[in-house]
Amino acid sequence: MSIKIVPQEQLTQPNHKTSIMPNIPLVYYPKTGQLYSHRIARIEQLIADSPLSDYLQFCHKIVYAQAQIILQDAVEYDLNQLVQQAAKLDCSPLSLQNLPLDTKWIDYLYYILSATKSVTSEIDNVRQQLTGYTKTVLLAKAQQLMSGHFLQVDSNESLFIWSALSVYYTQLASQLSGKATANTAEQCWQCPVCQSSPTASIIHIGQHAGLRYLHCSLCESEWYVPRAKCTCCDNLENISYYSLDQVLTAIKTECCEKCHSYLKLFNQEHDPDLDIVVDDVNSLILDLETEQLGFAKSGINTLLFSAEQ
Ligand SMILES: [Zn+2]
Ligand SMILES: [Zn+2]
Repeated sequence: MSIKIVPQEQLTQPNHKTSIMPNIPLVYYPKTGQLYSHRIARIEQLIADSPLSDYLQFCHKIVYAQAQIILQDAVEYDLNQLVQQAAKLDCSPLSLQNLPLDTKWIDYLYYILSATKSVTSEIDNVRQQLTGYTKTVLLAKAQQLMSGHFLQVDSNESLFIWSALSVYYTQLASQLSGKATANTAEQCWQCPVCQSSPTASIIHIGQHAGLRYLHCSLCESEWYVPRAKCTCCDNLENISYYSLDQVLTAIKTECCEKCHSYLKLFNQEHDPDLDIVVDDVNSLILDLETEQLGFAKSGINTLLFSAEQ
């Protein structure tokens, strides 16, 4: 089973089958204020003891800039109309097919670039490179990334471009609450809101404890996918799990013996403070170990682009 976004009013139509599991929330839209403040707090919590503390310091600057953008700016769209149109086109509401990319996110890119000055000379070179591009070139690079052609864009540039795009799409996705709901559909591995790939999956605590959700690398929505299932090829057999040691049992890699891909699985039952994006960066050593076993990562991280993706 996987998920499709439909207009909210379809829920009220009689005999409309909205879900085969009606008591489970199929999609969580992001709550922007909470999302970035939690992420900043998690970086600050991990930074002192992390072997990647310098890199996390850089991540802190990016996430802080993202939080400031949300506070200072708003994206305004007729999202009701966008959801209706997506239902007619049978696509995700924030997919490129339904909502062609405009240049608003480029303002966010410039803001993030100005907030990350003088970290290292290498980063400054990338910043200068990006500042020198025309909007047409930046748009073309963003289109490549959003179409999944990651190798067409320099991975250092991708990090900044994706971070800016992510704020833009997260703002839009946060406004879908109350306007769109979820139905079942094909292809569980792509975000039903924006059609991008997940960063990783997470098992929540609280009211719906124990359920697994995939977390979108672009719009930060989460969607329900049953546990013990490959999120790349839907395979249900020969799924293996790896973790480094007792300390990192909250973080495992879920590996598929059929398509040889893996995605990290974060379990809030073992660590309620987890943030998927930050903890994915902080557990890079687990990626290296899993890749040595012959599996390729299928997740994308806003704060961590690599050429293999
Ligand atoms: Zn998404
Ligand atoms: Zn698979």
